[in-house]
Amino acid sequence: MPDVFNWQLGRDMHYPYAEAHPDRQFAFVFNINRCIACQTCTMACKSTWTFSKGQEYMWWNNVETKPFGGYPQSWDVKLLDMLDQAHEGAGRAAAWTPAGGDSGDTAYGTYDGITIFEAAHRAPQRKDVALGYEPSDQEWSSPNFYEDTATGSKDQRDKLTMQSASLPEHGTWFFYLQRLCNHCTYPACLAACPRGAIYKRSEDDIVLIDQKRCRGYRKGVAQCPYKKPMFRPTTRVSEKCIACYPRIEGTDPLTDGQPMETRCMSACVGKIRMQGLVTIDERGGWAEDRTNPLYYLVKVARVALPLYPQFGTEPNGYYIPPRWAPRPYLRQMFGPGVDHAIEAYSLPSRKLMAVLQLFRASQTIVFRNEIEEGEKIFERTVGGKPWEIFNDTVIGYGRDGREVARVTVEEPRYERPDKHYNSI
Ligand code: SF4
Ligand code: SF4
Ligand code: SF4
Repeated sequence: MPDVFNWQLGRDMHYPYAEAHPDRQFAFVFNINRCIACQTCTMACKSTWTFSKGQEYMWWNNVETKPFGGYPQSWDVKLLDMLDQAHEGAGRAAAWTPAGGDSGDTAYGTYDGITIFEAAHRAPQRKDVALGYEPSDQEWSSPNFYEDTATGSKDQRDKLTMQSASLPEHGTWFFYLQRLCNHCTYPACLAACPRGAIYKRSEDDIVLIDQKRCRGYRKGVAQCPYKKPMFRPTTRVSEKCIACYPRIEGTDPLTDGQPMETRCMSACVGKIRMQGLVTIDERGGWAEDRTNPLYYLVKVARVALPLYPQFGTEPNGYYIPPRWAPRPYLRQMFGPGVDHAIEAYSLPSRKLMAVLQLFRASQTIVFRNEIEEGEKIFERTVGGKPWEIFNDTVIGYGRDGREVARVTVEEPRYERPDKHYNSI
């Protein structure tokens, strides 16, 4: 088994295949703080790709309520439990050694625990390349189980907290987790497939299942830790999110040949989603490009974090964590970068405030942004620190350098004339 470098873990790890990287990587950032669980993203995907017979329970995009919800039911709790058992068996802890610096490839520190690949490697009798399980039909049958269900209070688990809530942690809480295939750098689905039917596209690392090669063994379903390949009983093969690749290729006339954000991203009502393509350097890492909004959010501001990085697949979906949920829960879900990310998001720098305005400002993928400085519009002291907001303008550019978005920090206000109040 060759070793590959996983920058999210800050170390080499076992993976069945040698490293191979594209020139550009499909990636996305979701701001959990803004999601209203309207499921428009879910329906945008379903009405585009999975509306046929046999796809009734196929939700490539779903939004689940944490901590109790999950699709399939309890997918993460089950895998975390399996990983816990692997650590117990190995006499190791799933701990992280903190990072020394504040940037670079080990931004979150070093993961000293075991990944799903290493857990399987230590138990060769299982004959699997990754730790996993195949969900039952019942677990696939309730896509939004526990919707809007909050935790109990800290002291009484069956009772809600009736006191008023304040940050940094609400006594009673839930949040929405938006999920699709993470188009992982080291996909467990691909590694698990005995037919070699799952592959990554060399142009953008989008992970696809070759429908002609797949024989429906469901190994990828069992070993994807995020449970995003799904079996279709009518065709007896598996399917998964295709990252709306025709849109990424820019073949839709709407964007005049420019790469376009996917359906679930473009449809987002809460403006929580931004998707793009980042440049990969010769070592397989994200090439430094501070003008790329995704690079800035993930690598510079470090406000967006990978989902369960400890699984080891190097997922390319990143999340701005919710400010009100308990930190230990969030650290388990997003790794040790949580405290920094919440602090950075709660009191955003001038640049972060501007870049955050780009969410859903355009259907065309933004490859580069510039910021024009505006006047100060707000100031106050927060937690003993001075904080200011400026009405800067952020401008996004597409692949060909054309302007595709222009947004100000302060939303423009239009006053209707005295006449015709109700018309525009
Ligand atoms: S469309 Fe956006 S706001 Fe609505 S559920 Fe999906 S991610 Fe959340
Ligand atoms: S999320 Fe699962 S299905 Fe998607 S690339 Fe990663 S391992 Fe494969
Ligand atoms: S990227 Fe496209 S295929 Fe994938 S979940 Fe979103 S809408 Fe569906």
